[in-house]
Amino acid sequence: MKVILLGAPGAGKGTVAKLLTDYDGSVQISTGDILRVAVKAGTPVGKQAKAYMDAGGLVPDSIIMQIMEARLQEPDCAKGFILDGFPRTIPQSEELKALLGKLAIKLDMVANLVVPREVILDRLTTRRTCSNSSCQEIYNVKTNPPNADGTCKKCGKPTIQRDDETEEAILNRLEVYTEKTAPLIDFYRKEGMVKDVTSLDLKEIVEDITKALEK
Ligand code: ADP
Ligand code: ZN
Repeated sequence: MKVILLGAPGAGKGTVAKLLTDYDGSVQISTGDILRVAVKAGTPVGKQAKAYMDAGGLVPDSIIMQIMEARLQEPDCAKGFILDGFPRTIPQSEELKALLGKLAIKLDMVANLVVPREVILDRLTTRRTCSNSSCQEIYNVKTNPPNADGTCKKCGKPTIQRDDETEEAILNRLEVYTEKTAPLIDFYRKEGMVKDVTSLDLKEIVEDITKALEK
C-alpha cells in the first residue's frame, strides 16, 4: 500500500502505521522517528531539528524534504509505505506530489484519523516512549503501561516522557496542527484521496483502512 496517515498528534498514526505494516509488508516511514534518531545521534540534521522539536514546533520544510526524498528511494519502499507524520504542511504536500510524480509512484489513499480533542489531550499527557532509538515503542500509563519499573516490555530499556510532551509543548503542537496540518485534509479531499476514519478502536481503524484499500 502507498498511504498517507493524517491526524492530530496523539491520533494514533504511529500505532496504526505499525499495525498496517503487518498487513502487506509495507514500511512505516515516520519523520518524527527519523528526526529523533538524528537528534540522538547528533547528526547535522539532528542538530538543526532539536530546538524546533523540543518547543513542539515544526522542523523547516527543506530539512524534511531532504530526508524524505532520500527515504522514498530506498529499496524497502518498493513494496509500499505508510507515511506517518509527513506531509505536515501545504508546501510539503505540494513538494511530495512533485516528488512522487518524478519517481512515478501513485498514492492509494490518505487516511484521516478523526479523534476528539479531549481524547487527544488525555492520550498525549499519559504517553511514554521507549528511549531505545531502534525501538521507540509507545505506551500509555493508563491503558497500556510499560513494566512496573518503567522499562520497555519489548527491549527492557527505560521509557520516558518525550521533551515535547510537557503541557506547554503539547498545546503548541495542537495549535501548529490546526494551523499548518489540518488544511492538508482539504488539499487531499480535492484530489479525491481522503478516507475519514472515525473509530477510536485500533482494530476497527486498521480494518476500515484495509477494506477501503481492497475496493
Ligand atoms: P506527533 O505526531 O506525536 O506530534 P512526531 O513523532 O510525528 O510527533 O513528530 C515529532 C516532532 O518532529 C514534531 O513536533 C516536529 O517538530 C517534528 N516533525 C516530524 N515530522 C515533521 C514534518 N513532516 N514536518 C515538520 N516537522 C516534523
Ligand atoms: Zn523498547
